Amino acid sequence: MKQQIKDQINRPLRDLRISVIDRCNFRCTYCMPADIFGPDFAFLPKSELLSYEEIERVARIFIGLGVEKIRLTGGEPLMRKDLPILVEKLSAIDGLSDIALTTNGVMLPKLAEPLKMAGLNRVNISLDTLNDDLFGEINGRGVKTRPVLTGIKAAQEAGLGVKINMVVKKGLNENEILPMAEFCKNEGLELRFIEYMDVGSTNGWKMDDVITKKEIYELLKENYELEHTGAAYFGEVAKRYRYKGTNVHVGFISSVSESFCSSCTRSRLSANGQIFTCLFNGNGHDIRDFMRAGASDEEIRKRVVGIWNDRTDRYSDERTAETIANRKKIEMSYIGG
Ligand code: SAM
Ligand code: SF4
Ligand code: SF4
Repeated sequence: MKQQIKDQINRPLRDLRISVIDRCNFRCTYCMPADIFGPDFAFLPKSELLSYEEIERVARIFIGLGVEKIRLTGGEPLMRKDLPILVEKLSAIDGLSDIALTTNGVMLPKLAEPLKMAGLNRVNISLDTLNDDLFGEINGRGVKTRPVLTGIKAAQEAGLGVKINMVVKKGLNENEILPMAEFCKNEGLELRFIEYMDVGSTNGWKMDDVITKKEIYELLKENYELEHTGAAYFGEVAKRYRYKGTNVHVGFISSVSESFCSSCTRSRLSANGQIFTCLFNGNGHDIRDFMRAGASDEEIRKRVVGIWNDRTDRYSDERTAETIANRKKIEMSYIGG
């Protein structure tokens, strides 16, 4: 029997994002800049990561509290060994309607099929340009687009739902908006334009670098006829449109220019077992050490209820020069997007 809980702003708990690893095979300039996440960067040792049994246990408790959707992320989640085993454990939990994954896609040719077999429903694959040189520059590792495109094909062939995530940053890839839109439309792929966000404190974010949803939308409208389609469910973060005469959608995650905190139903579990109630909150709530010290399911459940009930986060609604400069924020690679 599910218990429904709401936070202080009356938002129900519905989604859980789980970061399974803080490492990544890319060094995207807007997420893990190579000059900071260099060869000597201290990633978490294995003993600090939640084990699959621990993740399953926490997920079961969250699902009992109303969570219906889980997304696995990172770091690069496909770098965590034997990920299909975790997906299989999660998909066996009663009450979960959707398991999704966000990935840079390069390991999908090997993993798409076993992940689908284990119960994964959908993947969001990140791709910010179709230009090989620019892509290599953005991912900080010189990787060309081919491995990602092959990963997209592998996910489609495995029968997974596929969406593409494109972060748009001024001066970096705004010229790629139309080529990416055209490519995804032709391939029948839903593209999600993501506004460049001030997550963490290492990417040197400036408001001037943001290309807003409105700017991207206006550009698309000059080239395509778009029809607005309403939110599929409470808390859906993307604003979605359909290319007229097709069944292909395009979406916008406008976290900076049009915040959506009033319908934010999302909690996050970091790779080292801390619960974050907002992407921009620097203070996690430990659950790993509590669990390892012998807490019962009921004690963990009470702790989670307390954390969610006390939640007042609405960072994007309140974003100001002061919060951008002074608020301590967790890095994206720790809790995923
Ligand atoms: N490594 C996987 C990937 O890249 O898809 C999963 C983790 S990544 C942190 C999750 C998503 O966050 C990706 O779609 C990525 O493009 C996005 N992201 C990373 N840094 C961002 C930023 N500063 N602003 C907006 N989105 C960002
Ligand atoms: Fe890695 Fe994803 Fe961050 Fe790029 S966006 S550095 S692929 S975690
Ligand atoms: Fe949710 Fe925080 Fe994002 Fe607002 S800023 S939508 S509260 S994660």
